[in-house]
Amino acid sequence: MENIFEDLKSLGFNNLDEVELFTSDVKEKTADGAKINSVVSLESVLYDKTYICPICDKVFTSKAIRSGKNRLMSVDTGLKPLYDIVDPILYECIVCPSCGYAALGKVFSSVSPKQSSWIREKICSQYKGQNYPDIITPKDAIERYKLALLNAMVKKVKDGEKAYLCLKIAWIYRDMEDSENEKVFMQYALTGFLNAYNKERFPIFELDELTTAYIIADLYRRFEEYDKAMQWVGYVILDKHVSLKLKTRGLHLKSLIKEEKNNKSSIHQN
Ligand SMILES: [Zn+2]
Repeated sequence: MENIFEDLKSLGFNNLDEVELFTSDVKEKTADGAKINSVVSLESVLYDKTYICPICDKVFTSKAIRSGKNRLMSVDTGLKPLYDIVDPILYECIVCPSCGYAALGKVFSSVSPKQSSWIREKICSQYKGQNYPDIITPKDAIERYKLALLNAMVKKVKDGEKAYLCLKIAWIYRDMEDSENEKVFMQYALTGFLNAYNKERFPIFELDELTTAYIIADLYRRFEEYDKAMQWVGYVILDKHVSLKLKTRGLHLKSLIKEEKNNKSSIHQN
């Protein structure tokens, strides 16, 4: 596989050419992508949140978003949100500046003694410190997410959690209009969510089972695998427990899949 961790070489990880992310065989913006209205409004929504690293016990702060000030404007077909001031996804990964342990804020403290020793051995021993500025750029965020993904692999977390990180990385690449890397991480997200669907329990963070099926459908649509996309969106809209909101999104996605499929076959006929 291509070295998706090329960006982490500057942090001290030179030996990641051969790592394998999944072992299962189940088959409108500024140049830097940040949606910033103005520096003043961005700084007013950020505050310092204090963390204690569960690996090295050092105390550090990381910027977080004040809830309520940053409004959700819209959501794309893949459920990627768009906020008016700043994309909260850029701030969701927490990185210990001392030892290189990184994870989503929601699971930052959840480390077993065994995982802690794996991280010390495989991450901390190689990590060269990096100080990030208060305002995280999409490029910084990618590096932080990839470091969290590497830590997740070392922690041996479930595929669903790795898929969730890959989906967020794909979204950041989408904002950066880097479609090549977006595709690479959408493919990883798809593989991981399919694995999770077969063998894991939901929710995966805020994603319940049907929301994940919806995301799988949209990922298949983006890869132009329309029959599989239809099958997965079908699971969503036909489920008797689906919320009205998700069903409405599902119906919209279904018509989009149909439209794109028809367009593709008419292009092929011409
Ligand atoms: Zn640490």
